[in-house]
Amino acid sequence: MSAYDYDLFVIGGGSGGVRAARRAAMLGKKVAIAEEYRFGGTCVIRGCVPKKLFVYASQFSEAWEDARGFGWNFGERRFDWSRLMANKDREIERLEGIYHANVQKTGAQILASRAVIEGQHEIRLLATDKVVTADKILIATGGRPNPFADLPGAEHCITSEEAFHLERLPGSVVILGGGYIAVEFANIFLGLGVQTTLVYRGQEILQGFDDDLRHGLHQAMEHKGMSVRCRDTLIKVVQKPDGRFEAHCESGDILDADEVMLAIGRKANTENLGCEKAGVELDARGGVVVDEYSRTTADNIFAIGDVTHRVQLTPVAIHEAMCFVETAFRDNPTRPDYDTIATAVFSQPEIGTVGLTEANAAKSFDEIEIYKATFKPLKNSLSGRDERTMIKLVVDAASRKVIGAHILGPDAGELSQVLGIAVKAGVTKDQFDSTMAVHPTMAEELVTMYEPSYRLRNGERIAA
Ligand code: NDP
Repeated sequence: MSAYDYDLFVIGGGSGGVRAARRAAMLGKKVAIAEEYRFGGTCVIRGCVPKKLFVYASQFSEAWEDARGFGWNFGERRFDWSRLMANKDREIERLEGIYHANVQKTGAQILASRAVIEGQHEIRLLATDKVVTADKILIATGGRPNPFADLPGAEHCITSEEAFHLERLPGSVVILGGGYIAVEFANIFLGLGVQTTLVYRGQEILQGFDDDLRHGLHQAMEHKGMSVRCRDTLIKVVQKPDGRFEAHCESGDILDADEVMLAIGRKANTENLGCEKAGVELDARGGVVVDEYSRTTADNIFAIGDVTHRVQLTPVAIHEAMCFVETAFRDNPTRPDYDTIATAVFSQPEIGTVGLTEANAAKSFDEIEIYKATFKPLKNSLSGRDERTMIKLVVDAASRKVIGAHILGPDAGELSQVLGIAVKAGVTKDQFDSTMAVHPTMAEELVTMYEPSYRLRNGERIAA
């Protein structure tokens, strides 16, 4: 019989923690999982899922416009924010229930409490002030929006967390940041008819994505009526007597807005977690330091997901959970595989991407070929929408492997999942070319770009 109350104690009921608890319990391990708030974590409760529901809501404004060219007439259109909120809340509650039930079915014990580490094998449950023991502990406490404490007036600003619970849809919003959350929310608000300004300190939004997509999306957002201000930032936010806000920019401009939203990255939830009591080291930004097997500096304590400041994506946390269970309970040390992660930005138009950007490929390979198509999708012929789709493949000239695939256009996120399989499998450009096109689709361009648009040798552009 084990000397501990549990074989595994999981702190945090998000995507990673839940998956680890379920898998370990299914192996017959005695597992407890503590969650202080709601099961589902960032993704289900205040991230990916409600965000995507908002994205759908915001897409209807363009869909109505596009429908005219196809013969439809509509009467009055009116958007009801409170109905969207109520329906979204109901769906989140349903999903939360499923998460809960799925854990319960495996026999893992659910503890509705904040849990803090008291020692290398001890955990205190704050709801009951009881200390329990575990052979292994998994920290899966996730993260939360970076508060930007240095910004005067930051207390007036919302983050994505509050954006999911606004009582009223604002008439205007200023969003600070140029990453996933800033760009996605800017598009959501714009689609819902909110006057939207995005302020980003860098040269171009979405650092790390392929440059053509970054420029293309920037242009598309401005074309729809968003104000995108790069190379600028906020220096203070002031509340006016009427309750609205002034966002003061470094450039000297002052932007009036009903809401100012900060989307400047996320930080790990490690405060007051007791990591120091067990010798679990944190990095300079408070993330849990782990080795390639997700093991912390205490050898029986592991950490997965956003709390480790690795790749902050739900599927990555789930993958890390599976690898952790293999390592800790199946005598099969397994490193998470971070190579070639497909990802999407649910902007409008969407970005779907996998593999290397042109700029990164040019640095890593002697010679690359770029295949690029920019075109007006068929649907836009009758809708009259002046928006183009971009498809780009990056190919290693020597091996002919497709090492990057990037799409800016409708449903690009869906396509990136499929491209992720192909690129991960090491498919070559010739295999793309030998694939029959599906006509008429936007994605057929992926297999009909026979000649490179240009090549790069040692980073220098040469003729195709
Ligand atoms: P990101 O790291 O993507 O972006 C943060 C942005 O804030 C960057 O543009 C950054 O600028 C800027 N920034 C950081 N600090 C400051 C500052 N002090 N002043 C002004 N600007 C600043 O973080 P997000 O918050 O957008 O999202 C967090 C993570 O969540 C993402 O990295 C992603 O992994 C995940 N996510 C994934 C989604 C998806 O898969 N669709 C959707 C939403 C989130 P700079 O570029 O100059 O550093």
